[in-house]
Amino acid sequence: MPDTTGAASAHTRPGEGAIPLWLPRNIFESEHEMFRDSVRRFIAAEMLPDYPKWEEAGMAPREIWAKAGAAGLLGTSIPAAHGGAEAGFVYDSIVIEELGRAGASGPSFDLHSYIVAPFLIKFGNDEQKQRWLPGMADGTTISSVAMTEPDSGSDLAAVRTTAIRKGDRYIVNGSKIFITNGIVGDLCLLVVKTDMALGAKGVSLLLVDTKSPGYTKSRNLKKIGNKAQDTAVLYFDDLEVPVENRLGGENEGWRLLMSGLVQERLIVAVRAVATCEAALEQTIAYTKERKAFGKRVFDFQNTRFTLADLVTEVQIARTFMDRCITLHAEGECDMRTAAMAKLSTTELQQKVLDACLQLHGGNGYMWEYWIARQWADARVHRIYAGTNEIMKELIGRTL
Ligand SMILES: Cc1cc2nc3c(=O)[nH]c(=O)nc-3n(C[C@H](O)[C@H](O)[C@H](O)COP(=O)(O)OP(=O)(O)OC[C@H]3O[C@@H](n4cnc5c(N)ncnc54)[C@H](O)[C@@H]3O)c2cc1C
Repeated sequence: MPDTTGAASAHTRPGEGAIPLWLPRNIFESEHEMFRDSVRRFIAAEMLPDYPKWEEAGMAPREIWAKAGAAGLLGTSIPAAHGGAEAGFVYDSIVIEELGRAGASGPSFDLHSYIVAPFLIKFGNDEQKQRWLPGMADGTTISSVAMTEPDSGSDLAAVRTTAIRKGDRYIVNGSKIFITNGIVGDLCLLVVKTDMALGAKGVSLLLVDTKSPGYTKSRNLKKIGNKAQDTAVLYFDDLEVPVENRLGGENEGWRLLMSGLVQERLIVAVRAVATCEAALEQTIAYTKERKAFGKRVFDFQNTRFTLADLVTEVQIARTFMDRCITLHAEGECDMRTAAMAKLSTTELQQKVLDACLQLHGGNGYMWEYWIARQWADARVHRIYAGTNEIMKELIGRTL
C-alpha cells in the first residue's frame, strides 16, 4: 500500500532487535514530548487529509491558519502578553520537526512564526507588537517577508524597491518575487531602500498591510515542490506606508535583517534532519515489504549498504542539530555554526531523499508516494535562506 501521508511511520522504530534505529535524544523533557504529541495529532487530523487538495490548489486555505493558531502551533515563541506561549526555540523546533516528518511543507507556518514574528518580537515597539502579534499567534493575521527582487536575491543589498519619505508616509515603488505566503498574507515585512546612495546602509524595514492601495499580489508561481504553500510576485505602485509602520530606525534595516539569519538557517536545518529520519524509517519499512527476485529488497547488499551509510550520516547530523537547537535556545548559536548546519543538513537531505526514492523504484517517482513529494520539496532547501554557495562563503570568511 502506498503511504501517501507519512503519518504511518511517524515515530515508529523500524530497527529490528534490541537496538533502536536512532540514539535517544536528551534535549527534551516530558512537557516537550506532550507538546510534540499534540502537534503530531493536529497535523494528522487537520492537515494531512486535505493536503493533496492544497497541493493542487497551490495554497492552503486560511482556515487552517486559525486552527493551527488555536492548537498552539503558531505562537510558541510569541510573548504571552501578545497571545503566544513564550516557550522558546526548543518548542519551535518541535513544530518544525513534526511538519518535516509528516512532509507538510505548506502552508508556511515556519516563515510566519519563526522568521517574521521574531523580527516583531525583537525590534517592534509596543504599539506594533500589540497590533500584529496577537493575530499572528491565533492565525488570523498571516505574514510574509519580502526581500528578494527579480534582480537581487543573494545580493540582498542590491534591492531596488524604494521608500521615499513624504511627511508622515513613505511612498513605496518596486517589486518582489518568490514571496512565500505572499498571496494569503495580510502583513508583509517589506525590505526597501530609504537611501539608494548608501547600499546596505540605506535599507529599512516596513510593516505593510497587504490590503493597502498600491499593493498588488500578482501571480502565485508554479513550483516543482512545496506546492501547498503560495509563492507570489508582488508589485508596489505609489504604495503609502505610514512612518509609524517602520520596524526599527530609518536605514537600520540591514542590521535587523542580519540578526534574523541564524534562526532562518537553523529552521531549515531542523526540518531537513527530521525529514531525513522519516525518509529512512519509511524506506527501511518499504524495502522490508517489497520483494524482487524472490527476496526482500532490504536483503540485497546494495540496499543495506546504502541505508547503513545514510543512517550513519543522519545520526551524526542529528547529534550536531540537537547541539545547535540547544545553543540557539540559549542565544549562543553563531552565524558560522548556523551556516554549517544549513549547508550540511540540506546537502544530506538531498542525498538521503534521492537514495530513498531510488530504493522505492517506480513507486518512488509517483506523486502519491510521500518520498516523491519530499524529494521535490527538499530541493529548495539548498536555495532559500541563503544558497548553499553563500553558506560556504560565510563559513570560509570566518576561517
Ligand atoms: C520556493 C521559494 C520561496 C522563497 N521564499 C522567499 C520569501 O518568502 N521571501 C524572500 O524574500 N525570498 C524568498 N525566496 C528567494 C530566495 O531567498 C532566493 O531565491 C535565494 O536567496 C537566491 O537568490 P536568487 O534566486 O536571486 O539567486 P541568485 O542570487 O541569482 O543566484 C544564482 C546562483 O549564483 C550563486 N551565487 C550568487 N552569489 C554568489 C556568490 N557570492 N558566490 C558564489 N555563488 C554565488 C547562487 O548560489 C546560485 O547558485 C524564495 C525562493 C524560493 C525558490
